[in-house]
Parts: sequence; C-alpha cells; structure tokens
Amino acid sequence: MPHYLIIGSSIAGQSAAEAIRERDAAAAITIVSEEAHGLYSRPGLAYLLRGDIPEKMLMARTRDDGRQLNAQTMVARAERVNPDQHQVTLANGKTLTYDRLLLATGSVAMPADFPGHDLEGVVKLDNLDDARHILKLAGRRKTAVVVGGGITALELVEGLRARGMQVHYLLRGEHYWSNVLDETESRLVEDRLREEGVFLHTHTQIKQALGKRQQLIGVETQTGEKIGCHLLAVAIGVRPRIELAKAANLKIERGIIVDEYLRTSAPDVYAAGDVAQVFDPRSGRSTLDVLWPTALLQGRAAGQNMAGAQTPYLKALSMNVTQLAGLVTTIIGAVGSGRDEDLLTISRGDSEAWRLLPQAWVVSDQHEVNRIRLLLDERQIIGAIVIGDQTWARPLHELIGAQVDVTPIRAALLSDHATAFAHLTQFYQTWATARRESTPRA
Ligand SMILES: Cc1cc2nc3c(=O)[nH]c(=O)nc-3n(C[C@H](O)[C@H](O)[C@H](O)COP(=O)(O)OP(=O)(O)OC[C@H]3O[C@@H](n4cnc5c(N)ncnc54)[C@H](O)[C@@H]3O)c2cc1C
Repeated sequence: MPHYLIIGSSIAGQSAAEAIRERDAAAAITIVSEEAHGLYSRPGLAYLLRGDIPEKMLMARTRDDGRQLNAQTMVARAERVNPDQHQVTLANGKTLTYDRLLLATGSVAMPADFPGHDLEGVVKLDNLDDARHILKLAGRRKTAVVVGGGITALELVEGLRARGMQVHYLLRGEHYWSNVLDETESRLVEDRLREEGVFLHTHTQIKQALGKRQQLIGVETQTGEKIGCHLLAVAIGVRPRIELAKAANLKIERGIIVDEYLRTSAPDVYAAGDVAQVFDPRSGRSTLDVLWPTALLQGRAAGQNMAGAQTPYLKALSMNVTQLAGLVTTIIGAVGSGRDEDLLTISRGDSEAWRLLPQAWVVSDQHEVNRIRLLLDERQIIGAIVIGDQTWARPLHELIGAQVDVTPIRAALLSDHATAFAHLTQFYQTWATARRESTPRA
C-alpha cells in the first residue's frame, strides 16, 4: 500500500488528498502542516476583517468530510526533504518516509525591511492567526497605516476602516495596483476609498516605523512627515515557500518548477498551488499564480497523477472575482503590464498571466462606477476587467476562454467605443446560440 505524504493542509494539499482518496480507497495518506486550524478560505479573511462573516463561515470542510478522507493529519513543520531516501524530517525530530510526496507549502507575505519593522503593532495578513491578531489590535478611534499594493493591501485598508479606525493608505506610486488596473480603474478605487474616509498618500514611502518600548507609535515617511498610528499593516507582495525544495536541490526559479503533471525535478516529488511554477504546454510558459481556484485545480491534478493517472494540468484561464473598494471586479486573462511600485513581488489574488500582455488594443465602456475594459489582439479578446455591473463577466469569460475569433466585429469594436458593446452583444448571442445548438443533448 503506497504512502502519500503531503506538506501543507490548505486548498492545494487538501484537494490533492481528496483526489488520491477518490482513486485509491486503501491508500495511506499523511498531511503535515504548520496550520492548526484546518482548511479555511484565505480569500475569506477579508470578509472576516470587515465583520461581514463570522469565523466559522470560513471553514471549508466539515468533520464528516475529514472522516471520509481518512487521512492522518499532523500539526508540525517539515524541515528537510531527502528525495534520495524518500524521507521528510519534521521540526519535532520525527522522520517520515513516503512513496509519493507533494509540496503544497503555499506562499507567505514578503517581510518589510524598514527600520522598526519588528515592532509590536506591525502586522501582515497571511492566515487566520494574523486576522485574529489584527482584530485584537484594531479598535475605534485608533489610527492605522497600510502600505503595499494589490488586493491584500486594499482588504486591510477596508477591514480596518470597517472596524472604525482612521486609516492612512500610503502608495509609493501615483496609482493603486497600476500593473493590473489602468489609470481610470485605479482612480475609481481611489475615489471610493476617499469617500469612505481613507487618507490616501501617493508618492509616499516609509522611512521607518517609530516605537516606544518595542511598541509601534507611528511612522516616518521619506519626506520626514510623521503619522502617529497604533497599527501598521504591510502587504508588499508574497513569495512562494520554496525553502524545502531549494535545500533538497529541486529545480526552482520564482517557484518550484513543475511540468504539466505537477512533477518536480526529483522522482516521486510533486508540487502544487502558490508554491509551484507550473509549465503550461499550450503557452510554453512557466508561471506563478496566487489564486485559490488555481491552487485547488493544481492540487487535484497532482493528487490524481500521484495516484497513477497521467492527467496533464492544463492551465485554465486565470480569473479572479473580488471586491475593490466595494466594487465587484472580475479580472480575466491578460489585462495589465509593467510594474507596480507598491509591490516587490506578485500579490495575493494575482496571476503572472495577467501581465503577459502582447500588443493589445483597448476597448472600454464607462458609466459612473461601472466599467468594462477589453483587450484585443489581432484575432481575439485576450483579457477583460469588469467593474461594478457584472452582466458581461460570464460572456467575456466564455469568449476569452474559447479563444473565439472576433475578426468579423474587430473593426467595429475599435472604431467606436460607444457602439462597441452593441456589436459585441449581437456577436455573443449569435455565437452562444450556435454553440448551444452544436452541443449534443445528454
Ligand atoms: C488575505 C488573502 C487574500 C486573498 N485573496 C484572494 C483572492 O481574492 N482570490 C484568490 O483567488 N486568491 C486569494 N488569495 C490567495 C489564495 O488564498 C491562495 O492562492 C491559496 O490559499 C493557495 O493555496 P495553497 O494550498 O497553495 O497554499 P497556502 O494557502 O498558502 O497554504 C500552504 C500551507 O502550507 C503550510 N506550510 C508551509 N510550509 C510548511 C512546512 N515547511 N511545514 C509544514 N507546513 C507548511 C502553511 O502553514 C499553510 O497552511 C488570498 C490569500 C490571502 C491570505
């Protein structure tokens, strides 16, 4: 009976274990993770911070699910992998042997490096314990400073504001999340934040965090401005947790390099989720995604392959549905380019695929807070951002995912933005009807 060992109990690790169990009822599965709270939704931490949901709603599996999975779980840190011996050593001194190993160690927040970053009151948001800690520190009439970019920084800003704190959001650059959003979209978010009472400081960089008896009392910016605060939240990007793989001499770049079967460079060792830099046979590229649904699908594919299948993981169209300053936003395919000064690395809820932008033409449609932006190449729509009204999110996901040739309406789309969506509506309806009619009924 083979022994499957999984390091990391979040969505990639759990999905792999479930896929193994589906194929092999008798297999011995062990899941080792530092995480003591089981599987919960990390994207959901934002809703917890804002007070929209209670903690128990984050939990993604029931006790019954756990019984059915019938895996041995251990709360421990894996310290070393020895691929030659097929062994993993834990921080508690135990050594486990495996037939197949999955590294699903995810990613962690990049640490701040300014003086005072280790003061009590300087926080990050990686997991449930971090969220609990932030909620303990947050409170009415207190002041918080948030630095960083991407979704997590904004979630911190909004969560702390919802808890009644005065919030200063410091942006190094001119605009929020400028490598994914265009200037108009960033402004939409920034205006909403100002309306919510957030103090936005652009072109502002922290020089140091100020403290008294190891306790944070404020920040000083590069220009010498001082802002008193009780909490400083840092979200400057994440890095895949590749240490185990690196020490075991596995092939790594930005993440652990895996092929389309999620196999690393060592025999019987697989990787999936945030930690994996996955080869996509369709594009020929190896990219990182820091997305929950992607980690789930990769984990499932890795589990199937560990248990004997030969199923390639074919990268689905990268997509995220999130809220930016209260505006529901769907990001699909390739939408941005360049660098965001507020992020040192990739951020959570982000995909490198969103910035693999070849030459593209833009079509946009804006009504107050509702905005749609399409990116077109010579033949097809390659990416879209839908902010506010979500009517177009599903049709665009379908058109982009199916790589539909839009050349018949391309000129019309580009010539007059005011009528572009009328053309697209007609085109989509015709295409969707034809697709429905050609799909055999079950
Ligand atoms: C605040 C926040 C907001 C997010 N927002 C979004 C969003 O809007 N949309 C979206 O799609 N995604 C979002 N994400 C990202 C999403 O949660 C991740 O992509 C997903 O959790 C990745 O799953 P994973 O299983 O690969 O790794 P992780 O969830 O990072 O889990 C890895 C696990 O491995 C454990 N581990 C690591 N090293 C070791 C070791 N040596 N020994 C033992 N255990 C170890 C860790 O403790 C952890 O429990 C967000 C994440 C956060 C934290």
